Amino acid sequence: MPDGSSTRLFARWVHRRLIAHYGQPTWETRYAPMEELIGTILSQHTSDVNSERAFAALMAIYTSWEAVRDAPLEQLIETIRSGGLAVVKAHRIQAVLRALTDDDGRVRLADPRGMTRTQAVATLTRLPGVGRKTAACVLLFGSHVPAIPVDTHVHRVALRLGLVAARTGPDATEDALEAALPPSDYYAFHVNMIRLGREVCKAPRPRCAACPLSTRCASVVESRAS
Ligand code: SF4
Repeated sequence: MPDGSSTRLFARWVHRRLIAHYGQPTWETRYAPMEELIGTILSQHTSDVNSERAFAALMAIYTSWEAVRDAPLEQLIETIRSGGLAVVKAHRIQAVLRALTDDDGRVRLADPRGMTRTQAVATLTRLPGVGRKTAACVLLFGSHVPAIPVDTHVHRVALRLGLVAARTGPDATEDALEAALPPSDYYAFHVNMIRLGREVCKAPRPRCAACPLSTRCASVVESRAS
């Protein structure tokens, strides 16, 4: 099992190799925190193309988050149907918007930049159906606050590499990676790990011969030893 010191050294090596291979991505804030929160809920268990289509439809039909909250459920389901799991996501979005409704009936998400990192994560994960990955996306992409969202790609690559021990869950993987890297590297690490997961370390069959990390990957070492 990797200890904190070896994880730190290994994660920094992975980061440098990915920068050398893919380059240094520019940290862009895609949306405001509220848009990022709803967009990330829509992105769960579907492709970027489908979730972006659903988000665009939502933005085109409703003029405010209060209107989304108060929309007839069937109408909202139809609006976001292209994003998949529309029934679950429509319920989840309206539950989140209701939870964020203040005494005046307005939907408000406190700006995470005005909180400590711990407070921001706690505020977001208290919302119904919002877990650590969604909270980390709101921080990283919607608030310009460093975080490493551990989606299915980041998690799979980290496990195969041996960056975290076998069967480590996504939340513990996020903790380990964030402890191993300086916050200034989080964005580039996240983006490049996802790219590696999509293009090279694919779910069904990794293309290890084309991987810039193969010399130190635990999966490669294990397969050679067996
Ligand atoms: S060497 Fe293979 S298993 Fe390891 S990270 Fe690269 S593609 Fe994935």
